Amino acid sequence: MVASLLDQFLSCFGKELEQLELDLYELRRFEEAGFEKNEVPWMGQMATSLHSIANQLMACPCGCRAFAFTDQRLSQGGLHSLLIRLEGCARCGQNVYVRHRYIHPDELALLNGMLPGLPWGCHIRMVLCALGQLASPIQSTWVGSLVLQHLAKPRLVDHAVDPQQKLSEWMAKLLQHRDQVFGIPTKPNSKAFQIMVNNQSFVQPNMSQSTPKPSAKPGLVTVDLAESGAKGSGVAKASKSRTMTSNQIEPHDMIIPADADNSIAPPTATASFLSGFPLHGPETHTHT
Ligand SMILES: [Zn+2]
Repeated sequence: MVASLLDQFLSCFGKELEQLELDLYELRRFEEAGFEKNEVPWMGQMATSLHSIANQLMACPCGCRAFAFTDQRLSQGGLHSLLIRLEGCARCGQNVYVRHRYIHPDELALLNGMLPGLPWGCHIRMVLCALGQLASPIQSTWVGSLVLQHLAKPRLVDHAVDPQQKLSEWMAKLLQHRDQVFGIPTKPNSKAFQIMVNNQSFVQPNMSQSTPKPSAKPGLVTVDLAESGAKGSGVAKASKSRTMTSNQIEPHDMIIPADADNSIAPPTATASFLSGFPLHGPETHTHT
């Protein structure tokens, strides 16, 4: 689960937040669809990420789609994203929305088993397109190691590979990079997972019952925004601090969305790694 890897989500600010925060149009559409269905669950498995997790209501920044998803498609398939709740509200007339942002590339990379902290560049939503459809390195390591193990038997390769060992090495490297980007976690779930990786013993203890719930801080700041109706406008400003804050998400059950039309299924992610070992085979999805 997410809390096994992170003590808190990143505190975004500046240009990153301007790109990641939902504008009033997006807030209204996600409120209609249900924010909770699209929030990253703290005490559960992150939903499958999609190529379109941050651009279903706009043209895809990678250039593969020139328009937002149609209302017909959205009404049939729903919205499927990975949202993080922010402090404060955004107001449009009589409507008040809880501020949200899309998942940050460092968060999505880590939860998909990829190293966080890479130089993502300045087009954050386009980075999310790529991360949303990558094959998880965890799964790639496992599958690739098994292939090499089989090839070693008839001596088609000159060295033996231990898939369990390779997986452990990747997980250890993943957590080292996690520490560099997010800081060393100190809460029970994340410490338990670190111990599990250190010991190369992939049996997840049931920590969820003993872990205090992350506290939400609703409504501390209210941001009034004038709805312009144009996509990409009206982005609420946030705090300037890059320091970590306590998690602002209320934990809720794991949510796995039904696959949208043309959606690609990413990889079995790190969170899946926690829920069962060895990893399941790749899921079959279509591209979004
Ligand atoms: Zn695209």
